[in-house]
Amino acid sequence: MVRELSDRLKRIPSVEHILNQPEVVAMLEAVPRRVVVDVIRRRLDEYRNKIKISKKEAPEIKKTDLVKEIVEEIKDFSGPSLTRAINGLGVILHTGLGRAPLSPAAKEALQVVSEFYSNLAIDKEAGRRAERYRHVERLLNIITGAEAACVVNNNAAATLLVLDTLAKGREVIVSRGHLIEIGGSFRIPEIMAKSGAIMVEVGTTNRTHLRDYQNAIGPNTAALLKVHTSNYKIVGFVAEVSLPDLVQLAREKNLVMIDDLGSGALIDLSRYGLPKEPTVQDSIQAGADIVCFSGDKLIGGPQAGIIVGRKRYIDPIKKNPLTRAMRCCKLTYAALEATLRLFLDEKKLFNENTTLGLITKDPVTIKEEASSFAEQLRSNLGTKLTVTVREDLSEVGGGSLATESLPTTVVAIIPKAVKVQELAYRLRNYKIPIFGRVTEHQYLLDFRTIRKDEGSIILAALKDCL
Ligand SMILES: *Cc1c(COP(=O)(O)O)cnc(C)c1O
Repeated sequence: MVRELSDRLKRIPSVEHILNQPEVVAMLEAVPRRVVVDVIRRRLDEYRNKIKISKKEAPEIKKTDLVKEIVEEIKDFSGPSLTRAINGLGVILHTGLGRAPLSPAAKEALQVVSEFYSNLAIDKEAGRRAERYRHVERLLNIITGAEAACVVNNNAAATLLVLDTLAKGREVIVSRGHLIEIGGSFRIPEIMAKSGAIMVEVGTTNRTHLRDYQNAIGPNTAALLKVHTSNYKIVGFVAEVSLPDLVQLAREKNLVMIDDLGSGALIDLSRYGLPKEPTVQDSIQAGADIVCFSGDKLIGGPQAGIIVGRKRYIDPIKKNPLTRAMRCCKLTYAALEATLRLFLDEKKLFNENTTLGLITKDPVTIKEEASSFAEQLRSNLGTKLTVTVREDLSEVGGGSLATESLPTTVVAIIPKAVKVQELAYRLRNYKIPIFGRVTEHQYLLDFRTIRKDEGSIILAALKDCL
């Protein structure tokens, strides 16, 4: 038994041996030697440990397979890991695909600020250090009507920070209908616990009344928290207390009214035929003391957590040491400022803000683009696949307008010689990864989220993959 184990371990090839295999030698042209050596060493260690732990059971891997696996892994290093991708899923704010595509204005700002020095945190007049918030604070004041603003890494950080600053060791009252979980493990009860605030749940999942909040207020209560139920909807026998009513109660009892808006709409999308999302302006106007929201959801900007509200609460948030730990870099400020500026002129907004442009993209245009792509596919690849064009639904995604679907057109592809899943795999692994919806028998490309110039890339990819 022991003998057998040591024999097996001895049969594992050496790093040097693998390094001299022709397939591996060929990789050395595109990938630095230290990377190649590291991949081989780790893979061999892994294999060795597997044998040691499982003794006899671990199946022996053929050397050729081992080399193949190693070469595949080395290939990942021949180009950047983070690359452009094509979104054929029709989910506009897809966290896996980087959420909001930025506007051209943001791209320009990023280019300048990334390459050169900037006045990020220096006051030109006084020549002294200055707050970096100032690049967006006035804009946020003007757009939302709030007195003050600050920005951190994302809205999860913003929520944590707000609670830590204003309610640590004290009670925060929240409706059971608002105890949400957002993808990527953001959960209100856990954020609350981390912040050191004491969560007091009131009401039930479907119904919470003003008296529930009233009855829960005690000498140690610091705040009332309202949370936007971003990614789900409860319908039927439901009741929720309006923000103005909560604000009035908070005022009477000298509590802070905190509103976690999530998606952070800065314009009323119902004017464009979409359902009414509460806007940040609505919330400030209703009297919320603190409103926090994401930069990369309905605003269409970079990942950021934006906090706006009363100066007397924002000031201590800015001074909290945690804020320093959640500080954004110059790239975020450049992209966020450029994105926010677009909201100053609503006439141009939908042309210039890429995300909002996609949300309001005309179904007729989508249909034309899909049909013309389908035509190209038929004439170029008609022997290898069948194509149909049909109406379907897109999603906003990213916990925004959760239950709303947008009319769209998809191109449905049925490959003749390979399985749909295999086609999807090959397209995902194309040099520009392409993501489409996979159903049992069809591969769907939603033309709401596919850009004009991407049709030719997808065509080339399909030629390659089939
Ligand atoms: C999305 C969301 C968050 C988390 O925001 P991130 O910017 O993704 O960290 C928090 N609260 C609500 C209500 C949300 O919708």
